[in-house]
Amino acid sequence: MFMKREDIEKEIEECIKKAKNFSNQGEVASYIPELKNVDENAFALSIVTTGGDIYNFGEKEKIFSVQSISKIFTLIMALKDNTTDEVFSKVGTEPTRYEFNSLIPIDQRAANPFINAGAMTTTSMIYGKSEEEKFNRVMELIKQMSNDGTFTFMENIYESEISTTDRNRAIAYYLKSKNIFAQNADEVLDLYVRICSIGTNVESLAKLGALLANEGFDIHSSNLIIPQNIVQMTIAQMASCGMYEKSGEYLMKVGIPSKSGVGGAILGVVPNKCGICVYSPKLDKSGNSVVGKNLLKILSADLGLNIFL
Ligand code: GLN
Repeated sequence: MFMKREDIEKEIEECIKKAKNFSNQGEVASYIPELKNVDENAFALSIVTTGGDIYNFGEKEKIFSVQSISKIFTLIMALKDNTTDEVFSKVGTEPTRYEFNSLIPIDQRAANPFINAGAMTTTSMIYGKSEEEKFNRVMELIKQMSNDGTFTFMENIYESEISTTDRNRAIAYYLKSKNIFAQNADEVLDLYVRICSIGTNVESLAKLGALLANEGFDIHSSNLIIPQNIVQMTIAQMASCGMYEKSGEYLMKVGIPSKSGVGGAILGVVPNKCGICVYSPKLDKSGNSVVGKNLLKILSADLGLNIFL
């Protein structure tokens, strides 16, 4: 049924109120030292529909690091630069019950592109003559996907992670030792951490999500930005693997393909409807925003966004 904008806004505000009841739970990420310095009570939400309507709430200008949400960007870039078979011969498509930075789900290859090992693999498959060119190509891609959204490089986050990231360094060297990629492991690690350190706000990510929801077509110009088969594979991986080892439970309760990051944001894609981005940096033990996942669950039920219903 058609609803007036102000009624939709009121409805969403009610959902936010309910989700904020969970704001006493969780903790901000601390294993990347710089992430401890964020305002733990910060909150922002953006919903961008495939018809171009934008609903923003809270601190919509707030810049945060995308962290694992970038695993969407690297997967898309790898799929644009290589054949599907090439990509999925090097990284699997199955969810894992292990945490995102575990070395266990790397057998012949990493379990899926949305754990760290898988994202380092897709990072190694980005085309470019130098690390700088590869990074710039990712930046260009996401700006194009979000229709010139705000994207910056957060040097402080990058420095903080690259100087402490022993686990990821181990993963990079392990992948190299298994011949999953041939490049220098430190270079792949560096590019991976740089891409995780891209800063943005909820609206820019929700716009990027809206393009995925719109089958890869720009929501204003209708130009095709991402081939449909890549969009479909990306959304399928978000549904099955996007919330780390909680992906199955989350999909069952929320029913929206989503990807979270330890920076505190979650990006949801509802095909043919909208992109949704929530930012609230206190995380559960798996690294998913507590208010974020609860808000997506409430919005899904209230606004009828569950893809299975
Ligand atoms: N940069 C982070 C890491 O590699 C990303 C992890 C995440 O957001 N889950 O640990």
